Amino acid sequence: MSATEQTDVAALKAEIVAQAKAAGFDDVGFSPADLSEETQQKFQHWLDQGAHGDMAWMEETRERRASPTALWPDVKSVIVLAMNYGPDGDPLETLQQPDKANISVYARNRDYHDLVKKRLKRIARWLVEETGCELKVFVDTAPILEKPVAAGSSLGWQGKHTNLVSNELGSWFFIGSIFTDMALPPDQPHGDQCGSCHACLDACPTDAFPNPYELDARRCISYLTIEHKGHIAPEFRKPMANRIYGCDDCLAACPWNKFARAASEISLKPRESLTSPDLRELLALDDAAFRAFFAGSPVKRIGRDRFLRNVLIAAGNSGDETLLPHVTAHLDDASELVRAMAVWALGQLAAPKDVERARVEYGDQETDRDVKAEWACLPSLPR
Ligand code: SF4
Repeated sequence: MSATEQTDVAALKAEIVAQAKAAGFDDVGFSPADLSEETQQKFQHWLDQGAHGDMAWMEETRERRASPTALWPDVKSVIVLAMNYGPDGDPLETLQQPDKANISVYARNRDYHDLVKKRLKRIARWLVEETGCELKVFVDTAPILEKPVAAGSSLGWQGKHTNLVSNELGSWFFIGSIFTDMALPPDQPHGDQCGSCHACLDACPTDAFPNPYELDARRCISYLTIEHKGHIAPEFRKPMANRIYGCDDCLAACPWNKFARAASEISLKPRESLTSPDLRELLALDDAAFRAFFAGSPVKRIGRDRFLRNVLIAAGNSGDETLLPHVTAHLDDASELVRAMAVWALGQLAAPKDVERARVEYGDQETDRDVKAEWACLPSLPR
């Protein structure tokens, strides 16, 4: 590349950064379109081990996901954009309130996908007008290994918890990407700055990190509460405490968050009703009320049954016996996912004689194998 071309490209990159900042992004990086052989192999090994749990789409898109060029052969560069959603208080405060539900910080307002995609498209339109390039924009839903791709830029590095860490934004930011057929020189990658720290690994309530930089999704509370469609295994129920949607413990533990700042984007600021909702109110939501309460929020996408499964586990962990009427109201729920966790929560909160009474009324009528197994785990009194 000639000196003039280099100057032109540097000016274009500076203009892309300026446009991105004007569109509300907090940082921008430029990555190569290929992932290293080592990164690709690590991903294949992770899938081979089944660590993705029942996220079948990961397996189905294995080939395309391996590298940006496998998804779109014409891509030459990836522009990675970060949008800060930093909390403005202690993100783990609700964990100290067992009668409340803890929702992951990113889900305490509107679904970020629409917002980030809209902003990406604004930059994309400008870039096409300016250069005539071909491009594609992505936010989280396409088969891309977004974190390793982003770690190829100056944006940040993949921490030992496998999420991206920035020494300007900490860990609280969404990533969007623009794939382009323009060859933009990549940044000098940020490089790993975890050092000897292991705070995130120690903070995980379910030991979901078999090794630093490795996540076993099957043990991760975010996966269990959001992606996992089936029953939640008994070993995870107590550690879940009142986390009903996602988990922030590994992110919150990271010392780089001392540089994090509260989100300035209004639709990413926490909605009060979603910051620490009462378990009692959540247990009373029927399907229509659930949809209305979580309108526009990512929580809505897990559906009422999985949601209630999670809330019943939180109720069982609350130690609050006054929740019992709201728990027993679900012992004859139409969903076996809900019934099973109503039985478990009953066992956590009720006195043995009340368990027996419920067993006669509901347990003896139960036909589902898994729910019957939950009943069988409760200690029984002689009749
Ligand atoms: S908590 Fe420590 S080990 Fe984990 S990502 Fe942050 S700096 Fe790295």
